[in-house]
Amino acid sequence: MTKIGLEIHCQLTKLKSKLFCSCKADYRGFEPNINICPICVGLPGSLPLLNKKAVEKAAMIAMRLGCKVPPKIGFFRKNYFYPDLPKNFQITQYNVHGPTSIGSEGQILIEDKMIRISRIQIEEDPGRLIYEGDPSKSLTTFVDYNRSGTPLVEIVTEPDFTTPKQVRTFVNILSDLLDNLGVSDTSLEGALRVDANVSIDKGEKVEIKNIGSFRNLEKAIHFELIRQESLAERGMPIPSETRQWDEGRKITISARTKEEEQDYRYFPESDVPHVLIKDQLLEKLKENMPESIISKRERYVEKYGIPNQVAEVLSTDKFYSDLFEKAHNENNAKEIANLITTDLMGLADTKEKRDQLKLKPQHLSDLADAILNNKITRISAKTAIHEIAKTGKPLSEITSELDLGRVDDESSLLNIIDEVFAEEKQAVEDAKQNIETVNYLVGKVMKKTKGKANPSVTLEIIKKKLK
Ligand code: ZN
Ligand code: MN
Repeated sequence: MTKIGLEIHCQLTKLKSKLFCSCKADYRGFEPNINICPICVGLPGSLPLLNKKAVEKAAMIAMRLGCKVPPKIGFFRKNYFYPDLPKNFQITQYNVHGPTSIGSEGQILIEDKMIRISRIQIEEDPGRLIYEGDPSKSLTTFVDYNRSGTPLVEIVTEPDFTTPKQVRTFVNILSDLLDNLGVSDTSLEGALRVDANVSIDKGEKVEIKNIGSFRNLEKAIHFELIRQESLAERGMPIPSETRQWDEGRKITISARTKEEEQDYRYFPESDVPHVLIKDQLLEKLKENMPESIISKRERYVEKYGIPNQVAEVLSTDKFYSDLFEKAHNENNAKEIANLITTDLMGLADTKEKRDQLKLKPQHLSDLADAILNNKITRISAKTAIHEIAKTGKPLSEITSELDLGRVDDESSLLNIIDEVFAEEKQAVEDAKQNIETVNYLVGKVMKKTKGKANPSVTLEIIKKKLK
């Protein structure tokens, strides 16, 4: 049977400082090796001091994933040598003498399958290696320790997945959940990195390391399954090893024979004392945790009558659901949800575009009210959203500048309809014979008014004129 398990490293990007020192946790876009100190580069004699906020955020993740949080957590040294790890050990958590990592035995439901979470551990990120040119040919490697000590959680699942598709669905749901919880911005490059353990019947476990994109994760697992099955068909052994995803060639390549957990010689990190996790702390965190995606979705449907599909799209996207929360009231909620999901999401679908968006919650609420009060048609609203997103001007200004106000007074609408009747004599005859063709005439009127006419009023007038 195919078995796939995941180890997901998620940086707690919402934290200001590193896991065991007060250096800046954000390393992106900085000159190399400037946010470092004796602690995060592991100089002898330096003493780590645990970041309390990291424990709180990790506990929130554990609770949201249905994990048990133990009354006492502890840290371990995971020993290995690598240039990005100057201490020669990583401070992490490990359930060697009972559960002392921040979470264990959780689960997430994906579609109709329950994926078990074995544990969640708090650990420090190593530094970053930067290769000059092709890593396999280059003789030069740079090390940037700004990332060294950045706080992250590792989420380990049981090998419950059987297809690459399930894995992709899972990481999508998980990253939405982490974003929604306000612990991480998983869209940042390197914020979410996944190792996948893949095995088939009778084969050994193969680990694919450090995949940063969900699409590549799915592809790499897919490739790996085919590779293993083809070895098995030819009666060849599938050795236990660590492999890497080669993005260029779209294959996995052998990196090294896999080390076993015992090779890491875990031992207690005595420089970081055990931390008691009191029930009161968990209660307090629970109270302050953002509403879950599932409960948001239910609220949107039940309270505002937003269609299920729209509610689903809106609730899973933190950026847009935050915008919705700020913009809506009881009356215009449904219209705002509609504007966001049909017009806005397609317009600003990447982080860069979202950052540039000039639209404010007030714009959305003004626009929804204008639609509900028949001041503007939905077609014109689309034009208005484009303009607001670019300029940030108030809706009233844009409506008059672009002449988007709805053509409502009957006399000007009648004039336009008369014009259309004069120009489209054949279509008028057709509509008299067969009323189903009337939409052609309505369409002509909408075109002449640049979408500003009320379609149902237009239809009524045309029908009357046809009689
Ligand atoms: Zn430091
Ligand atoms: Mn790890």
